[in-house]
Amino acid sequence: MTPRTLGEGPGGPGLPLLAASAGYARWWSNFWQIWWTRAAGERAVAAARRERCAALLRHARAHSPFYRELYRGQPADLAAAESLPVATKRALMARFDDWVTDQAIRRRGVDAFLADRTHIGERYLGRYIVWKSSGSTGEPGIYLQDDAALAVYDALVAVQLAAPDLAAGCAAGLFHGGRAALIAATGDHFASVASWERVCRSAPGLAAREFSVMEPLDLLVAELNAFAPAYLASYPTMLTLLAEERAAGRLRVAPALVWSGGEFLAEPARRDLERTFGCPVLNEYGTSECMSIAFGCSAGWLHVNADWVLLEPVDADYRPTAPGATSHTVLLTNLANRIQPVIRYDLGDAVVANPEPCRCGNSLPAIRVEGRRDDVITMAAAGGRSVRLLPLALTTIVEEAADVHRFQIVHTGGAKLLLRFETADARRRQEVFADAEQALRGYLARQGVAGARIALDAHPPATDLRSGKLRQVVVEPGHSRR
Ligand SMILES: [Zn+2]
Repeated sequence: MTPRTLGEGPGGPGLPLLAASAGYARWWSNFWQIWWTRAAGERAVAAARRERCAALLRHARAHSPFYRELYRGQPADLAAAESLPVATKRALMARFDDWVTDQAIRRRGVDAFLADRTHIGERYLGRYIVWKSSGSTGEPGIYLQDDAALAVYDALVAVQLAAPDLAAGCAAGLFHGGRAALIAATGDHFASVASWERVCRSAPGLAAREFSVMEPLDLLVAELNAFAPAYLASYPTMLTLLAEERAAGRLRVAPALVWSGGEFLAEPARRDLERTFGCPVLNEYGTSECMSIAFGCSAGWLHVNADWVLLEPVDADYRPTAPGATSHTVLLTNLANRIQPVIRYDLGDAVVANPEPCRCGNSLPAIRVEGRRDDVITMAAAGGRSVRLLPLALTTIVEEAADVHRFQIVHTGGAKLLLRFETADARRRQEVFADAEQALRGYLARQGVAGARIALDAHPPATDLRSGKLRQVVVEPGHSRR
């Protein structure tokens, strides 16, 4: 789905927060390796990246038929990725069985595994954590991770949390009972939930609970009040709603640390969240393709985990974009995942690289992400109330009910929603609409919205004029938008 991890699907915020308690053997060694590499400075980080990149390229060429073919004609010794052909999600997913480097992994088997939701958090073939997402391009993707990759993601986040202000929040959270709440799109194989379940299963003593973004807000607030989490993780749109509830006195939680991921979080909004919750707010940029790409700093930038990630801002022709300029997209190389190599992968996010050394003093490359920004829809509900509907909840409902990925929900005012689907087949459009409409009606009724008018629009989804990208939930100009 959406940039749920600032570029990603209901991947959303993962829960590496408590990974330390999961007791992975590789964890400490990764943690200290990252720590010492970064302490040694930019050159050490670049050297680690180059070495890992060369090893990944050798591995991909040797074990992935897709990459072997893609790099045919390239020099035998691939040292750097920057000159290699770009890989798109569509091309990779079309040849899934050739993409993966373990030939025991077959698309048919993965699909069967994903179709059974009781497997959430379990391992495919006993080895691989699997999650799915359609990301900012609206195309479905399936991602497998092994223990080595997961241990790197966990360690990357742990290093972030070791920064003095966040470490204080972590410690305070433990002092306040250590309960952790994840509010996300639950109930399917999404990155956030899969990570959460993984951590919970491996550390059964954890006081961790997941809450669904589909729940009516007043119910969610009551449940959070009862649970009293010391750590709170969710999407920025949800956190903003919760901050309003807290300011109004209805939400009485006092977290020691708030985790934001899965969607674009502007710096002023992050500061507002910090003020309202009275604790540090960690902004994470990750996707289903790489759980931890970059993390927010006090100066409002995101610092790329450049020892484990290669991130290239590029224009529409995949040429490098100058620092300070907004890129058309960004190419991701994830140096941690050997099973399903992500190399010069078109992620679809527009980013700006900081042309100056960051004010916060961190020498890792700094970026800002111009994530796709879906609108929150406000509708009238019973009793004269108004309810806010999260884009993530709406898109998840439509995707799940109608099995579509390229669509658009347009709020045209009052109780009116228009649905647009990208299919030229009128009959198929009707079928998809019928499924989506029924599911949306059920959701709106649970939120207290009565008499919603949902119509099918024969037009295909309109892409954003400025970015050329698809926004799935749009409030038409002139209507309430927040
Ligand atoms: Zn910074």
